[in-house]
Amino acid sequence: MSPASEAADDRGATRPVPAAVDWSWRTRLVDALSPIAARLGDGAPPRVDVDTFGLANHRRCPGFESEPFAWSARFARRTLGLEALAELPAVGYRPNRALDRAEAAQAGRSLGEWLAELPPGGLSAVRAEAATWLAAAVATVGVGQVAGLAWESPPGRFEWKVPHTPLLVSARLEGATADHRRATDLGLIRLLDGPLDVAVERAEAGWLAVLHATRFGVEPTRVIVCDLRQGRRRTHRVTPALLDGGVAAITTAATVAVGRSLGDAINLTPGRHCGYCDRRAVCPQAALDLPV
Ligand code: SF4
Repeated sequence: MSPASEAADDRGATRPVPAAVDWSWRTRLVDALSPIAARLGDGAPPRVDVDTFGLANHRRCPGFESEPFAWSARFARRTLGLEALAELPAVGYRPNRALDRAEAAQAGRSLGEWLAELPPGGLSAVRAEAATWLAAAVATVGVGQVAGLAWESPPGRFEWKVPHTPLLVSARLEGATADHRRATDLGLIRLLDGPLDVAVERAEAGWLAVLHATRFGVEPTRVIVCDLRQGRRRTHRVTPALLDGGVAAITTAATVAVGRSLGDAINLTPGRHCGYCDRRAVCPQAALDLPV
């Protein structure tokens, strides 16, 4: 923490000084999104989601629809692994103890119910995958940094509803360099399970930064993207250009989301992604010769 972000209290101890609040990016985003939402008119659906899946999805095919969410070993390992990451310092960096705590925390949650219904051996397999995910996260982030960072537990996601519209813009977040949203010199952390195209990664970093500035009135100073598969960290400095790119990415995704909800004609672009698309059974363009 920089000296400028600290102040002494009556006993001489330092305490963090919150960053100054500035809502100019919120104004900018409202101005960009309101005309798009206006297309919906009366009788609009109560909610139109604009999330970062839109970044990748509309690049694949404008008609792509994600399959409904269901727990899988892949999602479970990530959720358990992230919860365990937050617990690691408290259990002396013993991964199994951290995973025990993470598993216990699922009681009463949908993941806990899914784990309870796994066939014999299934839980052990998921635990093993979560342990692998956790080891990759620690190696990528750096064991010396794990305790000093603030991890979202359960895994984070924050939303902002564009005033007087059904548009709900959201972003994912796994951690930050401080545990309060208005910290000065704030770094936001994303943990990815594999590499992203550099341009998409930068657009997502801008999306996250501008949505944070919109939701909390404070621009982060950087977005740190950790690719756990390659063990690579890349820091995106938050500049006006990155924030402009974030506004453009959100605006493009909102245009696609509103167009979909209105049933606009779209040019379908089939490919390998059809194998993951919920519309493939009814889509006239679905690629049928998908690789096994
Ligand atoms: S099945 Fe393929 S072509 Fe059709 S909407 Fe889905 S991704 Fe697009």
